[in-house]
Amino acid sequence: MGIVAVSRQVTWSEVYERLSSAPSGKLYGIPRGGAIVAGLTGRAVDQIEQADWVVDDVIDSGKSGELARMWKKPIWGLFDRSRDGLGDHEVNFPWEGPTGRVKRLEYLGRELLLTIGYDPTSPELRETPGRWARWWEEFLTHDPGHIDTAFEAVAADQLVVVGGMRVWSVCEHHLLPFSSTVSVGYIPNGRLLGLSKFARIAWQAAHRLQLQERMAEVIAEEVGRVADSRDLAVLVRGRHLCMEARGVKTPAVTSTLTTRGKLKDHASMRMEFLQLATGQANSIEPGEQIWASSGYP
Ligand code: ZN
Repeated sequence: MGIVAVSRQVTWSEVYERLSSAPSGKLYGIPRGGAIVAGLTGRAVDQIEQADWVVDDVIDSGKSGELARMWKKPIWGLFDRSRDGLGDHEVNFPWEGPTGRVKRLEYLGRELLLTIGYDPTSPELRETPGRWARWWEEFLTHDPGHIDTAFEAVAADQLVVVGGMRVWSVCEHHLLPFSSTVSVGYIPNGRLLGLSKFARIAWQAAHRLQLQERMAEVIAEEVGRVADSRDLAVLVRGRHLCMEARGVKTPAVTSTLTTRGKLKDHASMRMEFLQLATGQANSIEPGEQIWASSGYP
C-alpha cells in the first residue's frame, strides 16, 4: 500500500563536478534531462547528426543507449546506473523541483491555487498549501496500532455486533472525502476481539484512496483473519461528498453489505445483523458491542 520512492538528490556542485569530465566536441542531449545536461556544457547541438556524442542525464539499461547505437554515436551520461551503483533509486536533479512527499504536495497545492485563479502568496492562502500537504501526509501515514490481540470467547455460535464506528476516507474516483458508519457482525470462533480492534481495522481500511465496496471487503477480510472467523458481516453506510457536493448534489446514504459463512447462508441471521446495525443504530453508542443471540445452526 502506498508509494515508496527512494530518491537521490543531486546538487548543483555535483552536477558541475561531473560535467568537468563530459566528453569534448558537440553534444546532443536526449530530451528532456539529457538536453539540459548538454545545454549546460555550452556545446549542445539541435540535431543528433551534428553531434560527436549523445548525452543523457541518467543512462539506464537499454533506452538511452538505443538511440546512440542507432546513430553510431558514443554515449555519455552525467550518471550511469551501473557505473555509479544507483540500483533503482530515483535520481532527482536540481532542475526537477522539490522531492519528498510533503514538499511535492506543498508545491502542488500552490499550483492548484494558481490554476483555480487564487494567489498562493496572499496572506489568507500562504499557509494553505502546507496545511493541505500535511493533511495528505497524515492521511497516508496512518498507524493503525495493535490489531492482533484477542480475548477468549465465552460462547460459540453467538452473534456479536459492533456498530456505529464512524470513519473518513477519500473516494478514489473523485479524490473527495466520504464518511462512513461501519458495523461489524461476527460469530467468534474461540476468539473474541477487543472493541478497539474493530475501529482500528476500520480506520486502517479507510486510510488510503478507497471505494466503499472495497472498504467493506477489506474490513471483512481483516476481521476474519484476526478473529479467525468465517462467519461475519460488514455493513458500511456512507455519505459521499462526490454525490452530495457535485453531480446529482443529493444527500444520500449508500449502503454496502458484505456477508460470509453463516451470515451469508442464513437469511434470519443476516436480518438480525442488519436490524442491529441499522434499526437500532441511533441507540448504539459508537463502538458499542451487542450480544445478539445464540443457537444458530
Ligand atoms: Zn466518488
